Amino acid sequence: MAVPAFLFALFGLAVGSFLNVVIYRVPRRESIAVPPSHCPHCGVRLSPAELVPLLSFAWQRGRCRHCGAPIGWRYPAVEALTGLLFVLAYLRFGWTGLALYWSVFAALLVVVACIDWEYRIIPNVVLGAGLALGLVISLVLRLPLPAAALGLASGFGVFLLLAVAWSGAMGAGDVKLAGVLGWYLGWPLVVVGLFGGILVGALVGLVLLITRRKAARDQIPLGPFLALGAVLAVLFGRELLDWYLPLLRW
Ligand SMILES: [Zn+2]
Repeated sequence: MAVPAFLFALFGLAVGSFLNVVIYRVPRRESIAVPPSHCPHCGVRLSPAELVPLLSFAWQRGRCRHCGAPIGWRYPAVEALTGLLFVLAYLRFGWTGLALYWSVFAALLVVVACIDWEYRIIPNVVLGAGLALGLVISLVLRLPLPAAALGLASGFGVFLLLAVAWSGAMGAGDVKLAGVLGWYLGWPLVVVGLFGGILVGALVGLVLLITRRKAARDQIPLGPFLALGAVLAVLFGRELLDWYLPLLRW
């Protein structure tokens, strides 16, 4: 078990390094392919050694070797988080196609959460690419498409109603994201993921309000919390439903 988990961790770190490029460039409408990775401050091209996840940050002590500009904690954090999520996918689903499916989903969630947190947007190109990948992998793995389609329709539909009912509570990006999360989670896990995400987001918003870190008019982005809810649904949702659904029969 240790060797495949280690492979998933390495794969996750490498993917996380790529996600950093996506998170930095997509909101700036830059190509993710060209130019090659460079220091955003001085523009010096990064050597292969400087592209090694986590370690490069450690041995450069968090600074560009050329101009000395700080690199920013988001880079190693995104790499470590992606590595961790990939390992969790392996621990949950083993050496299967499903583990790969959830790893791709986790990568999408990391990108959505980081971009929405920083820019308060969820780019269509990210959601579109995520949905296309999910569709292709579902077909290759022969996953139950009706459950995925129902998840997409219910996530999108319910969030659209919420957005119309409470204008300003969530943006168009959140509605589209709910649909994409619904596809990946499928019915009925979509309920756990989206409800869990809204719940955690509301609690955090309440705490920030009470501790006066935010005023009532300040918006906190919903995307990161929906992403967190989706991760929790993947890890614990099945058990939660197994426990809860029999209670409904009464
Ligand atoms: Zn530099």
